[in-house]
Amino acid sequence: MKRIGKALLLLTISLLLFSCNNQSENADEQITAKEVTVYSQRHYESDDSLYALFTKQTGIKVNLIKAKADELINKLQLEGGNSPADVFITVDAERLIRAKQKNLLQPISSDVLSDITSELKDSSGYWTALTYRARVLACINTLEKNKLPATYQELASLKWKGRILVRSSESGYNQALLSSIIFNTNETIAKQWAASIVQNLAREPKGNDRDQMKAVAAGVGDVAIVNSYYYALLLQSKDKTERDAASKLKIIFPNQNESGTHVNISGVALTASSPNKENAIQLIKFLLGKDAQEYLTIRNCEYPANRNVQANEVLKQLSVFKADFNAVAHLEENHEKAMMIFNEVGWK
Ligand code: FE
Repeated sequence: MKRIGKALLLLTISLLLFSCNNQSENADEQITAKEVTVYSQRHYESDDSLYALFTKQTGIKVNLIKAKADELINKLQLEGGNSPADVFITVDAERLIRAKQKNLLQPISSDVLSDITSELKDSSGYWTALTYRARVLACINTLEKNKLPATYQELASLKWKGRILVRSSESGYNQALLSSIIFNTNETIAKQWAASIVQNLAREPKGNDRDQMKAVAAGVGDVAIVNSYYYALLLQSKDKTERDAASKLKIIFPNQNESGTHVNISGVALTASSPNKENAIQLIKFLLGKDAQEYLTIRNCEYPANRNVQANEVLKQLSVFKADFNAVAHLEENHEKAMMIFNEVGWK
């Protein structure tokens, strides 16, 4: 009996010890739960190395969920206050503004955003650019100088019939371009422009920005509307055929005597219900800091949003240009009208 009693006592003590141990482990976990969850629309290789560097420097693990921005906005709405998301990243201003309007974001304190160019952030701190990019014209370099288009509007002229390449209207990059044209002119002019572009296409919209440039290099058309970083990446590609394609192109930054070349941002925001707010702020600070900004311009050829960081050499050689920063904060308000126009003029 004595032996059984002793054995029972030992069992009780070990069970108690086990449960204490377990509790303290859980408590430790809670204190050291160093993680941050990012919902990101960005689709570039450069980002994985950035997050790895952040984790190395801070010990904070990054849980990355990638999807289209509209899907992420829906997810944030459905999850509400229980969302695991801390940080929301997009490749356009429209979706950030929309997320703010749907009360899915909270402001970031202004000291975190102090180095960011003022047109590239929300005036109340609800979102900020990480980088910006220009929508440029990639022309075949055999065109004489006086035959190169100087504006987006020139591409509407009959002389460009059968010569223009551009991706589909499902691309947020084209949606933002048309929104900016509505902002700078009006709906009627923007619609006429879009209808003329459709008339002047060398082929039905298909593929991404890189594909449009490769098609110009292959003689399918004479000018492609593309984002600046895709050209710079093509120029520096490991693949010789891509470098050869880029070498046949000349890049024009349109509308220099007007409102400037259309630019859009890739930006970041803090979610309204962020469960790891301090970690999220640390990540946002890191992404806006000098090292990450230099990395993004060198590796992905984007223009840095931090005014103390210079664009990479390839971009600097391309052009110092006048950007249409004014339109950025207004892209969302014309987005729906742009979508209607695309539909009406049959821009696939
Ligand atoms: Fe992109």
